[in-house]
Amino acid sequence: MRNMIKALKKKYALSDQGASDLFKGILYSVLANISLMLPVILLAVVLNQLLSPILGIADSEKSAAFYTITGIVILAVVFILHYLQYTAAYVGTYEESARRRIHLAEKLRTLPLGFFHQRDLSDLTSTIMGDCASFEHAFSHTVPQFWGAVISTGIVCIGLLIFNWQMGLALLWVAPVSFAIVLLSRKWQQKLGKRHMEARIELAEGIQECLETVQDIKACNQEEAYLKKLDAKMDAAEKAQISSELTTASLITTGQMFLRLGLATVIIVGNSLVMKNQTDIFTYILFLIAASRLYDPLSGAMSNMAELFGVSLQVKRLKEIEEYPDENGEKDIRTNVYDITFDHVKFSYEKDKPVLRDVSFTAKQGQVTALVGPSGGGKSTVAKLAAKFYPLDGGKIMLGGKDIEPLDSTMLMKNFSIVFQDVVLFNNTIMENIRVGRKNATDDEVIAAAKAAMCAEFINRLPQGYQTVIGENGSTLSGGECQRLSIARALLKDAPVILLDEATASLDVDNETEIQNAISRLVKGKTVLVIAHRMRTIEAADQIVVLADGVVAEKGSHETLMKKNGLYRKLVDLQTESTKLETEYNGKIIN
Ligand code: ADP
Repeated sequence: MRNMIKALKKKYALSDQGASDLFKGILYSVLANISLMLPVILLAVVLNQLLSPILGIADSEKSAAFYTITGIVILAVVFILHYLQYTAAYVGTYEESARRRIHLAEKLRTLPLGFFHQRDLSDLTSTIMGDCASFEHAFSHTVPQFWGAVISTGIVCIGLLIFNWQMGLALLWVAPVSFAIVLLSRKWQQKLGKRHMEARIELAEGIQECLETVQDIKACNQEEAYLKKLDAKMDAAEKAQISSELTTASLITTGQMFLRLGLATVIIVGNSLVMKNQTDIFTYILFLIAASRLYDPLSGAMSNMAELFGVSLQVKRLKEIEEYPDENGEKDIRTNVYDITFDHVKFSYEKDKPVLRDVSFTAKQGQVTALVGPSGGGKSTVAKLAAKFYPLDGGKIMLGGKDIEPLDSTMLMKNFSIVFQDVVLFNNTIMENIRVGRKNATDDEVIAAAKAAMCAEFINRLPQGYQTVIGENGSTLSGGECQRLSIARALLKDAPVILLDEATASLDVDNETEIQNAISRLVKGKTVLVIAHRMRTIEAADQIVVLADGVVAEKGSHETLMKKNGLYRKLVDLQTESTKLETEYNGKIIN
């Protein structure tokens, strides 16, 4: 029994409790199915007694009271077994579902960041929400019923074969053939099922992307083109679903129809055996009734098979998440020095498309290191790699002389404050959005950080001040306000390393000065790696690292690099030119 529970646990990726509940569900389902045969036997006995005077068979006569009491007892047994089966299958399944979701969420927490770059959001949502919901249906309505039907029918069949093997064979030869039809086409069905699932995920991704980018789509007048693409995805998903369901349905119906042939063979074989006096009429009647009862659960089991094939695909996806190796890094960094060193770092997002080919530099504690270079040169990538967002292809990155590769990401992250352009804000109050920086910060500390980050003025203008709920991703705030909130978070966190992406968004001059003031408070005494866009920041940096074509093209102070007359100087000249143009343009507008 323990081995069976273990096998169920492995097959369906269940918890110990879930496997034991499913085992109970199957067991009660078997007993409930067998109990359904009791009325058949009683009916056969009654019929036999009624027919015995006509057929001249001697039979020990039983009273009507005997049959009534037996009937009531059988009814009670059937009811109790069905009740037990219902509770075991349904209650157990929903409890397991809750455990599975919690376990998945816990697992996602411990997964390394690399995992999330391999799996996209829609795919994960579809596993956590969609697959778990399908499991609820499958484990309450299908799996126990399927195994219950197969096992109970198997037991009844053995009984019937022992009772009369010729009639038994006439009744049962159809079962293996019908199941074989459905089983042999399993691979085909699974292939179509997989295609359907992929089409659904693609569609979900399309819808999600459309919702996320709806403003840009409208702004670029791309609605029609976009909807066309979405339509095509919907068509593909619909076609995949129809072909998958149609194939499955036709194969299963073929199997189920074939099963009914058994009744014909029971009649033919039964007639001939009765004629030859090789069997009695009671046996014949019993097998005729059995034929009318036995094929129903088998037929039901066949309908369930399609869902079972689907479940095995979903279990596979679930196992991929559950078996992904946990983040198991060292939990203690043991350093008081927070220099960041890139040592011959190589990195690519996609195979054979290197983004960083050989990057080496050190960002010293207490200094500002500015990353500059042409767009797409890898500045953001460098900043993200410093916080171990992705695994490297070669070389190493060190924090305080210690390779960050074997370190635990969560622990490492405690040492970083990250202020990137794409600020993630939650649909919660301003107070809580800032408190994300340090969970246990008091309200006063949050307010102090907000003031230092120049947020106080705009927060006070909001209807409920710090208690104002901002829309998802701060949709009710301006770009500059979102960035200042992010700086307030970073100030509250007070981590020794700051990764900063200066906003390029069109901030007005007031905004810019406020943000600059907030930033200068944030970076004091820290190791600062800034993706710099403004000349003011770049000139004031202690070190400038120029990234181009995946390598460090130049590094040094502003003066040194200007004297060198290389790529940096070119970039500075370009920027000066564009600023001049911008000023002239603004001047014209004002005039
Ligand atoms: P920069 O910050 O200097 O503009 P990035 O580091 O953002 O440059 O990008 C460097 C290169 O890596 C670009 O060619 C960009 O297209 C590519 N890239 C950036 N992020 C991703 C990603 N998540 N997946 C694949 N390619 C990416």
